[in-house]
Amino acid sequence: MEQLKSRPQAPSRPAQRPEQGANGQRPAPLPEKALAVGEKARHWAREARLYCKAAAEWSRIHLRRWTHLFHGAAAGTLAVGPVSFLMVAGALGTALTLTTLYSTSYAVIVDGQEVGVVADQSVVDHAIQTVESRGSQLLGYSYQVDSDIDYNFALTLKSDLSEERVIRDYFYGQLNELSDQLRAYELSVDGRVIGTVKDEAALNGVLDQIKGQFVTASTTSAEFVEHLTVERVYAVDDLMDPTEMDAALRANTTGETTYTVVKGDTYNGIAYANDMSLSDLLALNPEADVNRLMVGDMLNVKEVVPTLSVRTTEQVTYSQPIECPVETVEDSSMYKGDSKIITQGEEGEAQVEADVVYINGYERDRVVTKTTTLREPTTTVKAVGTKEKPKTASKGYFTWPTSSRRINSHFGGRYLFGSYSYHSGLDIHATYGEGIKAADGGTVTKAGWHYSYGNLVVIKHDNGTETYYAHNSSLLVSVGDKVYQGQVIAKAGSTGNSTGVHCHFEVRVRGSAVNPLNYLR
Ligand SMILES: [Zn+2]
Repeated sequence: MEQLKSRPQAPSRPAQRPEQGANGQRPAPLPEKALAVGEKARHWAREARLYCKAAAEWSRIHLRRWTHLFHGAAAGTLAVGPVSFLMVAGALGTALTLTTLYSTSYAVIVDGQEVGVVADQSVVDHAIQTVESRGSQLLGYSYQVDSDIDYNFALTLKSDLSEERVIRDYFYGQLNELSDQLRAYELSVDGRVIGTVKDEAALNGVLDQIKGQFVTASTTSAEFVEHLTVERVYAVDDLMDPTEMDAALRANTTGETTYTVVKGDTYNGIAYANDMSLSDLLALNPEADVNRLMVGDMLNVKEVVPTLSVRTTEQVTYSQPIECPVETVEDSSMYKGDSKIITQGEEGEAQVEADVVYINGYERDRVVTKTTTLREPTTTVKAVGTKEKPKTASKGYFTWPTSSRRINSHFGGRYLFGSYSYHSGLDIHATYGEGIKAADGGTVTKAGWHYSYGNLVVIKHDNGTETYYAHNSSLLVSVGDKVYQGQVIAKAGSTGNSTGVHCHFEVRVRGSAVNPLNYLR
């Protein structure tokens, strides 16, 4: 039965190998018919004893708890006697617990030494097949595991069963000098296997280099952000060389990170398209000139996040200006809301020490550890007005001169009476005789007939800007009058060169007409 087996037998224990296959194959899982009758009986007796032992153990733990539970319910009515109930429940519970927690299993005894516990002997067969196949690959000839393998029946907590890897590694260990060649180092980043390399020193070299690229003279600490684990494994296939490992660890995980500028792009537009603020975009592109964007420029629009990130801390010292404190003094000769600097203070200077935390070279955090004042700032003295503003003072913005906001004709080029002309204001819809109101406070500088404007009012505002109100039917103010914002200054009409009743409203900044719509609110 065993003579075909090529490996030498252990002469001292021939009877212990009844499971040996007939054709030299790996032992089949304990065929019951191969057991002698007596041995089979012993086997089952042993199994039964184990079950009883486990049941007794289970009862010891659980019955006490149940007794306690029923004690609490004793005041109520129990349909059955508590003792018989406990016995039935206990038996059912034991059976349930045994089948859910425990598994029938086999302790794997290799050359007299227990190497693990398996539920199924095929786990061992498979482990040996793997080791023999890998071993043969390495050696270049058919390698076979040479060991005596026995199985002892046991009852084991399912969680205590050995993984195939444990069994496999035991047999790999038998390869002796071969095992050194098979040994490799598998690197995982946050639990994800990146790859396996042959040479541990080379792996460490790769890691050191990745970390080292962010280390400067002021770096006080450098560490990987992710959790790294290096596990010794037996492997012959899919080994990475250090260059491949380096590339895998530096590989970007965020997809495309750059954008090439095309015609019509703006910094704001690119920031918006990439869902970031302008300052985020500029932070990613420290070399970029915010006033100059050229077609073909390449901008970073996303951070490069490599598989393995490095967190460095640098201790930096720099000087920083200290703002001037501002002291205000009241000035009754100035209007409320106006102010002027009387004495301009001088900024101070501080020396700041800080710990700056970078991830892959990008600043993430800055903790100021010490601030030393090198020069105190001097105080800025500011005068603020307290005098009430007159009602006629300009507020600095224009309100609509009409009750309607309907525009009959816009500012700019237009066709009128069949020829092109430049329109210097807005024609705003008005009804005959309605009040035309001053757009802001100021002084009337013109009130009378003025060529094609008809009856015209011009108001000069405090900053020199002028507003024109034309084609009125009558005027209610005179030159030199102070008027307030919203004061009725004329009545609407269609005098002068007019296409109908409306208010021609004009805004002139330093003498030039501008689009009033940019000023009205
Ligand atoms: Zn007009």
